[in-house]
Amino acid sequence: MPFCDAHLHLADFTDAEGSITLARGAKILLYSASTNLRDSARNLELARGSPDLIKAFVGVHPSDAAKGLDEKELESLSTRATGVGEVGLDPKYSAVTERSEQLRIFRVQLEIAERLGRPVQVHSRGAGEACLDNLESFDPPSVLLHWFEGSELVPRAAAKGYYVSFGPAILYSKKLAGIAKSYPRNLILTESDAPVTYSPLGEAVSGPSLIPSVVFFLSQLLGLDFAEMALTVSENSRRYLEGKKG
Ligand SMILES: [Zn+2]
Repeated sequence: MPFCDAHLHLADFTDAEGSITLARGAKILLYSASTNLRDSARNLELARGSPDLIKAFVGVHPSDAAKGLDEKELESLSTRATGVGEVGLDPKYSAVTERSEQLRIFRVQLEIAERLGRPVQVHSRGAGEACLDNLESFDPPSVLLHWFEGSELVPRAAAKGYYVSFGPAILYSKKLAGIAKSYPRNLILTESDAPVTYSPLGEAVSGPSLIPSVVFFLSQLLGLDFAEMALTVSENSRRYLEGKKG
């Protein structure tokens, strides 16, 4: 596949089948992340239907972490999944303190990913440093920091070989462009985080079909031609999925 949407939420789509057909036509591989265990089961079902196109990530997002976690159920889902995600920390949803449920659930999921040897997808908004602190005490085979905004943490994340995925927000965010420019090229992935929409791009615009535009933007930013950039991202995505550290 020439393109990869390394982080989106197919279980949240109103018309997942239509988007999957479009992605197949545009040759965009889909790594579908989960918000809760119900999504996780749905992602596994979608991946079973299109195993060449869709890779299922199962897990509980920081937005749902305060509701608790059936650890046995997650472990059983994880054995059938490609990876674990979307996991992470975000103080916007509930407290992130040493004894918080959000932190405990993040760590439980990192432990499962490490034990089962699954790549993880990490949400780190407002908690980049705490995410890295916790990631460093586990050893999952590979780590993707999705929509990563911690400019000051770039050297630390890059030194650990963590992948970073850039989405449509890079088309208008100077901060994200700055991170992409300073991040090692062999660790860069692309994502849509769909069905998220991006108001500067118009509310109707969303989905994996934005991926080639993100690749084009990255190619201009990094001084590569489009095909070279697409190939680089595609190879990075494959290595990440295979659990290879950058
Ligand atoms: Zn997401």
